[in-house]
Amino acid sequence: MTRSQIIEKLSLSEPVSLKNLYAEANAVKTSTIGNKVYLRGLIEFSNICGKNCYYCGIRRENQALKRYELSDEEVLAAVDFAWKNRYGSVVLQSGEQQSARFTSRITRLLHKIKAYTNNELGITLSCGEQAAAIYREWFTAGAHRYLLRIETSNRELFYKLHPNDDKHSFDARLDAIGQLRAEGYQVGTGVMIGLPFQTVEHLADDLLFFQSMNIDMVGMGPYLEHSQTPLYQHRRHLLPPEKRFELSLKMVATLRLLMPDINIAATTALQVLHPEGREMAVLAGANIIMPNMTLPEHRSYYQIYEHKPDINDDATVSKSKLEQYLRDAGITVGYGEWGDSQHFHHER
Ligand code: SAM
Ligand code: SF4
Repeated sequence: MTRSQIIEKLSLSEPVSLKNLYAEANAVKTSTIGNKVYLRGLIEFSNICGKNCYYCGIRRENQALKRYELSDEEVLAAVDFAWKNRYGSVVLQSGEQQSARFTSRITRLLHKIKAYTNNELGITLSCGEQAAAIYREWFTAGAHRYLLRIETSNRELFYKLHPNDDKHSFDARLDAIGQLRAEGYQVGTGVMIGLPFQTVEHLADDLLFFQSMNIDMVGMGPYLEHSQTPLYQHRRHLLPPEKRFELSLKMVATLRLLMPDINIAATTALQVLHPEGREMAVLAGANIIMPNMTLPEHRSYYQIYEHKPDINDDATVSKSKLEQYLRDAGITVGYGEWGDSQHFHHER
């Protein structure tokens, strides 16, 4: 697809054209990688962060927030739940901490999770930018996928979303994605959609960026404002929520047409803007859902954006509306399967 064809797809607004785009993407997914959805139990194990991204509610300078870090026992309790409910994989996500204590803590947790689940559970990490040697240590300890969103592939826009300093370098983030690949991970990246100052051309370039980076997995969802962040002052320039939602679905569908064999997540942020947001994304080409395993007492402190859905039955997918909806749409859940990116295996 050319850049102008991508822009054309992202600019569609007629209900019939949108329906056709989503259906086409869903058909491409089904014929390429099948129609299963794979689960990753999301464990938000710490909201302590050394960074100050302008959009994020758990940024370092937000002091109106209690900071927490789960104990090993609490992480293992969530792992136990995911494993017994045959999730196949978990994602350990946190704010970005760079310290020897943090590194060795993750390494220890990885060993414990692998031993506890007889190596059956796949583990994805999303713990920010780290040195290549740390990525290697964690890979050796059992992590095999890593999520690190570029947030936007446009350098100028990146610096409207982040301070311009050593801790928030566009080039360092780009390098980190390359290092993760070199260490052997299945690499996931992504962007926020509907940011202030963002144009449809930026988004088209984001999709082409994923393709040029030969990325294995993508997680992208709508930007959602948070009142305790600097970016909140630009909220008047945002698209209305329903348009941000629609644009996110168009991004998912267009990416599926561009990269048929990658893993694409139906992100929780979609659920904030529509009660069936994740399910609709699956029918527009996504194949990964990340039910939230974080305990209710900690969830309220992991508010990267406000109005994060408290999806009560999220953890028990087998009994939830989510599974019923997917089943009604002819989609099966890949219980007990890792659901690796087929792109990763095709490429290597
Ligand atoms: N600290 C790690 C990092 O930044 O890579 C992982 C955790 S961070 C909370 C995960 C993702 O949350 C970020 O990559 C960003 O895209 C997303 N995020 C943060 N604030 C957001 C907001 N206000 N709206 C939508 N997504 C947001
Ligand atoms: Fe920290 Fe990640 Fe939020 Fe940035 S996006 S402030 S690195 S948790």
